[in-house]
Amino acid sequence: MTRLVAGNWKMNGSRAANRALLDEVRAGLAGLGGMECAVCVPFPYLGEVAEQLRGSPIAWGAQNMSQHAKGAYTGEVSAAMLLEFGCRYVIVGHSERRQLYGETDQQVAAKFAAALDARITPILCVGETLAEREAGQTEKVLARQLDEVLTTTGIEAFSGAVVAYEPIWAIGTGKTATPEQAHEAHAFIRRRIFKGTPILYGGSVKADNAAAIFAKPDVDGGLIGGASLVAKDFLAICGAASRQAAERVA
Ligand code: PEP
Repeated sequence: MTRLVAGNWKMNGSRAANRALLDEVRAGLAGLGGMECAVCVPFPYLGEVAEQLRGSPIAWGAQNMSQHAKGAYTGEVSAAMLLEFGCRYVIVGHSERRQLYGETDQQVAAKFAAALDARITPILCVGETLAEREAGQTEKVLARQLDEVLTTTGIEAFSGAVVAYEPIWAIGTGKTATPEQAHEAHAFIRRRIFKGTPILYGGSVKADNAAAIFAKPDVDGGLIGGASLVAKDFLAICGAASRQAAERVA
């Protein structure tokens, strides 16, 4: 399976900084096989990023979308609008959306379904808080988050989706799940969903820990926050994914 490394820029960037970052990433990716690279950028930059990346191997996407098709939803952006900008991916259910904006499992499931309807690949984020992990509830939380989507769309829908396991305690904190913790969670997710669905790990992936995490059998790549804003760090992570893909083939 091709490895996927997707950057989540969150609310960062400027027109000039984006251009410089993507020029460097594009140049650095030349020659890296066995992996796909994507960037999920803030809405206002989609047009320019699409222009800059057209014809390149880098895919682009958004970080959120509405579950509604159109209408009186001030401030929202529909899947059809993302499609007009050539988005291949959209992140749904990121923990920052769930925690800061109160997105429920039901809303996330509806967004997942709406993205698939529009032929955009949802990157569904699931993950537990530190308190939930310490209470031994990691699998229960993952099951609840996945089951809501499974009930809404059915398991076959996952053949067109990506799942990202993102332990909330590891996001932007500098704490990373150990490769074993990632492996356990990924194996649990794998048993619950469509077998071929790529499962990414996200949570403080950096140049120096990516290889060990990507080496685990059920880890198919990464969703990268902070490190995706620095070209050399993001490229080092892409390089780790590429080497890992080559080793698995060998
Ligand atoms: C994320 O925001 O999806 C993420 C994984 O962030 P970071 O890599 O900065 O922990």
